[in-house]
Amino acid sequence: MARLLMLHTGGTLGMQPRHPDRALALQDISPAVLAQVPELAHIAEIETEALFNVDSTDMTPSHWEAIAKRIGERIDDVDGVVITHGTDAMVYTACALSYMLRNLPKPVVLTGSQRPLVDPRSDGRANLVGACDVATRGINEVSIYFNGMLHRGNRAKKSSSFDYSAYSSPNFPPLAQMGASFHPRAAVPVPREGDGAFRVEGGFDDRVVSLNLIPKNGAPVLDRLRGSGLKGVMIESYGMGNIPTREEIVGDAISALCDEGMVVAIASQCTHGEVDLSRYPGGRLAAKAGAVGTGDMTTEAATVKLMYLLGTLGEPERVRVALGRPLAGELTFE
Ligand code: ASP
Repeated sequence: MARLLMLHTGGTLGMQPRHPDRALALQDISPAVLAQVPELAHIAEIETEALFNVDSTDMTPSHWEAIAKRIGERIDDVDGVVITHGTDAMVYTACALSYMLRNLPKPVVLTGSQRPLVDPRSDGRANLVGACDVATRGINEVSIYFNGMLHRGNRAKKSSSFDYSAYSSPNFPPLAQMGASFHPRAAVPVPREGDGAFRVEGGFDDRVVSLNLIPKNGAPVLDRLRGSGLKGVMIESYGMGNIPTREEIVGDAISALCDEGMVVAIASQCTHGEVDLSRYPGGRLAAKAGAVGTGDMTTEAATVKLMYLLGTLGEPERVRVALGRPLAGELTFE
């Protein structure tokens, strides 16, 4: 029988309706989950560990690093890892793990639920059963399993706060689908690097902000970031990465930030498609000002990658170049 490690980190799945803060004590979580879903014992021998019990919106880079470290310590002992996690910010953790766990030799599957496991209408049971099942199937990358779909973690987005089908991966096909039978899809595997040996690499610089361009106020908001000590700015701009060109004031604001040594990256407010700064005058102006485009990465994947590259490479020019190259299957590169 396969052996799995289940790491609990928090979220709705483990919530208790009548508990004062709606969260169980840390030591009670793992036994409660296994008691609620006894059929997990038919899928694998599951060892559980509660690392923390936080709402995913409270997750920080130090939580990501703690999860990666624990996986690094235990990966040789098991066939796969399942992480129970709050749904809201799950994709940020999935992205961070995908960058830190290099040449991952086993599956790492994140899951959670839209309603607590104790709720009769909970989606938690099916998600846990499915996540444990796919974690035994040798898809050796960081993924998110939810409502029958397996998505590459760093390609996924939480696209619904209502639907049980909460995740999508807009620019990448699902890795697999679990219905009455299991359907793996032929996804491009995450490339192995160097000697192919597994290692945990890490370090994030959290001096990064992300902001949306809205009509009229782009330049004044960007100007306010001058002298802030930030290292990276992710701008969600329009379409294929366009900024306003009239009077070039947004371009000037980007140049000023780049002159201070910040890495300015351009993502898009569109969910589908890619950023191509060469396509329109607005994109070309952003590139001329020193910004770098994020291709078909999700904003979440690009932002966490920016934090990771600033934390590991540091030097702005190296970060700019590395942002445009794939690290863990998060970016289509032609
Ligand atoms: N606020 C919760 C969280 O992300 C929502 C959930 O788990 O579904 O931790």
